[in-house]
Amino acid sequence: MSFASKPCLHGLAREELAAVCGELGFQEFRANQLWHWLYVRRAADWDRMRTLPSALRAQLAERYTLQPARAVEVCGPEGCTRKVLVGLQDGAQVEMVLLPVADRLPVCLSSQAGCRFGCAFCASGQAGFVRNLLAGEMVGEVLLAAEFFGRRPSHVLFMGVGEPLDNYDEVLRAVRIINHPDGLAVGARRITLSTCGLIPGIRRLAGEGLQVELSVSLHAPDDATRARLMPANRKHPLAELLEACADYTRQTRRIITFEYTLIGSLNDRPEQAQQLIRLLQRFPCRVNLIPLSAVSGFAGAPPAPEAVRAFQQALNGAGINATLRDSRGSDLQAACGQLRCRRLAPDAGRA
Ligand code: SF4
Repeated sequence: MSFASKPCLHGLAREELAAVCGELGFQEFRANQLWHWLYVRRAADWDRMRTLPSALRAQLAERYTLQPARAVEVCGPEGCTRKVLVGLQDGAQVEMVLLPVADRLPVCLSSQAGCRFGCAFCASGQAGFVRNLLAGEMVGEVLLAAEFFGRRPSHVLFMGVGEPLDNYDEVLRAVRIINHPDGLAVGARRITLSTCGLIPGIRRLAGEGLQVELSVSLHAPDDATRARLMPANRKHPLAELLEACADYTRQTRRIITFEYTLIGSLNDRPEQAQQLIRLLQRFPCRVNLIPLSAVSGFAGAPPAPEAVRAFQQALNGAGINATLRDSRGSDLQAACGQLRCRRLAPDAGRA
């Protein structure tokens, strides 16, 4: 696979833009203007950047692309949940989901083309891994979402295709650009990183000093069941994962959200609720319960409504804040990550 011939300007941090302007013989204030055009005015072509000298624009255009991501196909009506097939420069395609809820404009991004973790209920995992996305491509997804919304997204969820902590450096670089107060300015508490439980990534994230939301997919309270659903559990077993989560909470003072998809007769029994309570009771956290709906390629059954109610009541009764999430936009076919993301949409507006 051939990567883009030109690197993406949107992958550069604010200080790196200043260094590029300096190397090209321009003063630092030009980098401030450029940053403003990129992220406040969201200029998608060089000609719009009228306050920049034409010589700087021409040199930048020779070296960098301004369009790392474009919409190839859009599903869903305007103003509702929409899935966008995003084309990248090398021909790779990922999916992004727009989740407008009242005055909130969350977008669910992909961080990888495909995924190597193969969770049983996830279409992305079943399709295999293609490549990591670059930071500029993820920032490009946010800018594309802003084009659809007509203004910048209010929340950014790394819950689409891919495992964000498996593409750690580029995802964190994208987070810092998206979060920059002089640019897109999406608050850290409105940025969510979702993981299938990669322990080194969780431990590393704890030391970053970022206030982002962390969401960890559990889906089972014991290793055997979890490994059936999530092969990553073999390398990152529950006891070690929860130890890392407890340390994360202590170190960051941030509360982790655990995702738990309820699957009929597989992980929705009362004794499994009690097992989950024992795992989670030792540190403050939230649980999102997501009743399974039909996912292509996964034979699991949706849980009975009374089993869902009982599971939630057991957790809440034990002092664990458990919320039930419904799916939205079930008419849209999407990868598991995006299905998760749609189900979580109402939550996205809380921060
Ligand atoms: S759920 Fe997430 S980690 Fe698992 S296969 Fe799907 S995209 Fe990858």
